[in-house]
Amino acid sequence: MPTRVYIDGVITDENDAKISVFDRGFLYGDSVYEVTRTFSGKPFALEEHLVRLEKSAHGIGMELPARASIRQAVLDTLAAAANPESYVRIVVTRGAGEIGLDPALADRPRLVIIVRPTTGPERRQIEDGVEIAIVSVRRNLRSAIDPNVKSGNYLNSVLAIGEARRRGAYEALMCDADGRLAEGSSSNIFAVRAGLVKTPALAVGILDGITRRKVFELAAANGIATAEAELRPDDLYGADEAFLTSSVRGVLPVVRVSGRPIGDGRPGPLTRRIQTLYDELTRKP
Ligand code: PMP
Repeated sequence: MPTRVYIDGVITDENDAKISVFDRGFLYGDSVYEVTRTFSGKPFALEEHLVRLEKSAHGIGMELPARASIRQAVLDTLAAAANPESYVRIVVTRGAGEIGLDPALADRPRLVIIVRPTTGPERRQIEDGVEIAIVSVRRNLRSAIDPNVKSGNYLNSVLAIGEARRRGAYEALMCDADGRLAEGSSSNIFAVRAGLVKTPALAVGILDGITRRKVFELAAANGIATAEAELRPDDLYGADEAFLTSSVRGVLPVVRVSGRPIGDGRPGPLTRRIQTLYDELTRKP
């Protein structure tokens, strides 16, 4: 099953996928990106991802190629890869240029699309849930590098997941500078208590996750109560259930946090229900 990469109008295989070392995405993480996956060969929620890409670009004052041209490039790269299901990464860098931090040195944006066979969570993780760790690394301040801008500058998350993996956990959970729960290195977090599904508010400084939004919509349509709330580590330790969300993973049960079991240490009924609703949504034509 092949990997195909689109760079500036040309689709190649992974060995020929090269970009300049003077590209600001490489030098500074001066880029924006999106990740989605296909279901039945179609990129899930592509329009929402393209809109968020535009918001991210706007957030860092970066120009983007036209939405229609990015959409077409995604479809062309998917067709070239012809995988049963694919992981899709859309990256736009500010471009190359003279070495220097000033964004005005960039020549023009570069569009890169990486399509690979899907690498979702393992069946065991979907069924039995995963352990996450609340790490010492704090989520970026909104006024420094806004977590709601999905930029290529992911060192904050790289450090967080590194710490979590050293502690034997599957995903990291970061708090903000005030100790409020924020989000995972590449996921949003939910806690269920007494039938209410709670998740940190966007105001804490997190990514406006597309899967997170889908969970709100599915819950509302199915009589499940949700709320954006200020959550602290103790709220999570004391939760009946927990789960995380992301485009690649969907809805994944969390059964242990920093070594402590959540509820009875197994995926809870509301988590299962939301997981099923999300699966059904992804299977809709
Ligand atoms: N938070 C962060 C920091 C992420 O990188 C991701 C993955 N894009 C998410 C949350 C989940 O977002 P989504 O559901 O849109 O994939």
